[in-house]
Amino acid sequence: MLLLPPCAAAQEKVLIGVYHGRKITRLTLSSHESGQATVRRALLKGKVSLTAAGGRLRCADRKSLDGLKEIKVSAYGSGIWLSGPGLPRRLHRGDLAISARGDRIRVTATVPPEIYLQSVVSYEARDLGSPEAFKAQAVAARTYALTKVRNHVREGFNLCDTQHCQFYAGFADINPAAARAVMQTAGEIITHGGKPVSAFYHSACGGFTDGISAVWPYPDAPYLRTVQDGPAARPYCSEAPGFRWKKRLAFADLERALRRGGWLKNGEKISSVSVRGHGRSGRPLKLAVRAGGRTVEVPTSDFYHAVGRTLGWTAMPGNLFELHSGKDHIILDGKGAGHGVGMCQWGAEGMARKGFNYREILEHYYPGARIEKIREAGKKK
Ligand SMILES: [Zn+2]
Ligand SMILES: [Zn+2]
Repeated sequence: MLLLPPCAAAQEKVLIGVYHGRKITRLTLSSHESGQATVRRALLKGKVSLTAAGGRLRCADRKSLDGLKEIKVSAYGSGIWLSGPGLPRRLHRGDLAISARGDRIRVTATVPPEIYLQSVVSYEARDLGSPEAFKAQAVAARTYALTKVRNHVREGFNLCDTQHCQFYAGFADINPAAARAVMQTAGEIITHGGKPVSAFYHSACGGFTDGISAVWPYPDAPYLRTVQDGPAARPYCSEAPGFRWKKRLAFADLERALRRGGWLKNGEKISSVSVRGHGRSGRPLKLAVRAGGRTVEVPTSDFYHAVGRTLGWTAMPGNLFELHSGKDHIILDGKGAGHGVGMCQWGAEGMARKGFNYREILEHYYPGARIEKIREAGKKK
């Protein structure tokens, strides 16, 4: 029995929604100096700009493309550059489908999963240095992608290129260590009870990782529970830059974040914020926000996400902190960065530097899980 969901089982290619969530009004394709691209079997030279109107592509540069609903571009070698107003310039490889949706353009890329992973791991593990940490990241990213291949099926692709499904920025910046780690672990995934795990990971746990249900409204998983990340005095992730942090958040900014998150009503002014209870990992469970004559209890993860979305992800790097409430602000005294669930990336790096291999690293962060080749998984046990 194959373990993979039907569309991934035979999946030698993965379909990516490119520039997902952005409005593409104009898309420029330009060939890379050591790449080659073909459009409708003709070699693409120089630049071609596309717009869309009324469900048709418009192209002044090349009359043969003007008026089509969709074009397929195949990019070989180093690939092809994509850019456009408000779009980051990205180098893509493989097959691209560019289509008109009303007055917008939609782009999907078809790439082999292992090639996709080289790009994902290059970005997601850009701060790491040790080969074993890269390998742990590669296996976690592969597992994560595998469990998410149905995320966007209704939209006509498997995975988007944003943080939602793991960040995929093409091939301009491939880290050779990341590429090597993907190849050395080819096809390996993390399983529990014969199924791929939800391989969450984050930057630095601050000493203890957290259970999934403490952070998101998802059911608990045995392999996503609080893990002590090395010695209490010197956690594995303690070498993460900014491991200890202190942030001041003005009530006025918090009001904005909490209003946007639907926790506060217009005009409600915060007078104090305090912690209500702690979880096993030491993270505050809830924050009691006193505002407009009432007290609103906000789960810490909701608070963290509301602040991140409104004030930026550096305003409050993580969710493990002590809180001091002042007159018109709070001070957060925290450790680590990110949501704290699953593998701690800086901890993986710390473990690798201490001589642990990637399997030991993954078994530490996903307790009870095992590492298997995709096609063997499910047969064992
Ligand atoms: Zn997505
Ligand atoms: Zn850690």
